[in-house]
Parts: sequence; structure tokens; C-alpha cells
Amino acid sequence: MRRKIVAGNWKMNTTPEQGVQLVKDVLKNLGHACTSVDYIVCPPYTHLSEVVKVTRGTAVQVGAQNCAEETKGAYTGEVSAEMIASLGVRYVILGHSERRQYYGETSATLNKRMTQVYANDMVPIYCVGETLDERESGKLWDVVKAQIEEVIFELSDEQYHRLVIAYEPVWAIGTGKVATADQAQEMHAFIRKTLAAKFKDAAAKTPILYGGSVKPDNAAEIFAKEDVDGGLIGGASLKAEDFLGIGKGFDAV
Ligand code: PEP
Repeated sequence: MRRKIVAGNWKMNTTPEQGVQLVKDVLKNLGHACTSVDYIVCPPYTHLSEVVKVTRGTAVQVGAQNCAEETKGAYTGEVSAEMIASLGVRYVILGHSERRQYYGETSATLNKRMTQVYANDMVPIYCVGETLDERESGKLWDVVKAQIEEVIFELSDEQYHRLVIAYEPVWAIGTGKVATADQAQEMHAFIRKTLAAKFKDAAAKTPILYGGSVKPDNAAEIFAKEDVDGGLIGGASLKAEDFLGIGKGFDAV
């Protein structure tokens, strides 16, 4: 049985005070939500410390949205994986399409970040996904395969066991356009097959999340698919009710 995960990527939203209130609202209402789901919230760096404190001992875990590729030193503005881990953060999102698109992240820079995350005993949530052009020109399979092979295939077997993948078609992120449940399943199955080519049976245990305009009213249908193990949620994670409503998508499965 793979773990079911609903992870919220808050992006560059909320002040620390608003973020703490948001997570308190999530915790307050969690009693009514499906307990078989692991909830993760990924606030901006500035809130990590407080959000870890508020969530300690609860069913909600905390992730960062990125980390530096270097260990320490003269890298103005960067935040190292060691700094993040020292706060009690468990997950780090890596390779989000916004990071690839706006900050020039490549497989080479992501390999370095992966190394940092594992060296500090955290779990990467590694994002892959194609643009609309790539989908329409039929290149989607090659694009996603390369994103996996160039980064995930560099991991050791031991590292591979601590990994979450998120399939996020770029055309569905923040656009309100959601992949159909069948489109998501088709790509998730392809990702799992690609992973199995190197990691064999372990691929069956890797959680693969879907991300892209997931809302409480479309989550159940997508989550019902065999290879979809949860969601990486942007916009809808900023409202406690919607975030938890998405987790309830598993109740309906
Ligand atoms: C995301 O940015 O990871 C995401 C899935 O965003 P949204 O849910 O807003 O499409």
C-alpha cells in the first residue's frame, strides 16, 4: 500500500502570521478529515520555524519549497538544506516548473539540490511535467522521461526509497485547466514504468502525486486512479477548508 499524500505548496503567499493562522485552521479541522492521508504544508522559508512548532506532534508535516545547491558559504540570499533540516522540516520540493521556468533550474542544478536534501535526511518532492507545446507536439513522454532519468536515475537505491514524485503538467498549474483523470493516470503509469526500468520493484512503492488546479470538487475523480497517490496543491492549499476538502477526495475513493 502506498501512502496517500496531500501536500500544499503555498508559493510566495501569506505573511508568517497569516501562515501560522492557516496551519492552525488546518489542524483545527483535521479531525473531520480522512486520517489515512499524510498532509504536508510547504510555506515560504520565513515561516518554516513557526509552522514546524505549531505542527509538532500533529498529523501535518512541513516541507520547504526549495533549497540551495551548495552546502554553505558565500551564496548571498540562499538557504541551505542543513539550515532547513535543523528546523525540523521533513520535505523539500525540488524542480517545480516555476523554478525551472523563472530561475533556470536544470537537471544539473537539481542533482546538486537532491544531494543536499538527502545529506540532511529530508525527502525530496521532485516535480516533473510538460508544457502545453510539448503535450501538443507529442513530446510529453520524452520530456518527462528525461526529467526522471537525468535526476532520479542518479540516486542510489537507498536514496530512492525516500522520494516523492509530483507530476505537474505546466499547462494545468494555476490555470484552472486540470488534466483529466485519464490523462493523469496515463502519465503516472508511464512515470512508474520509467522508474521501474532502474529501480525495479521499488517503483511500485513510490508515491506519485498529481498537481495542477486540483480543487475539492475534482480531487476524488483524479485520486481514484490506480497510480495517483495524492496531490501537490497550489492555490487551493491557501484555504484550510479547500486543502482538507481535497484530502477528503480519498474518502470518496
Ligand atoms: C503547484 O504550483 O504546485 C500547483 C499545483 O498549483 P495549482 O494547484 O494552483 O495549480
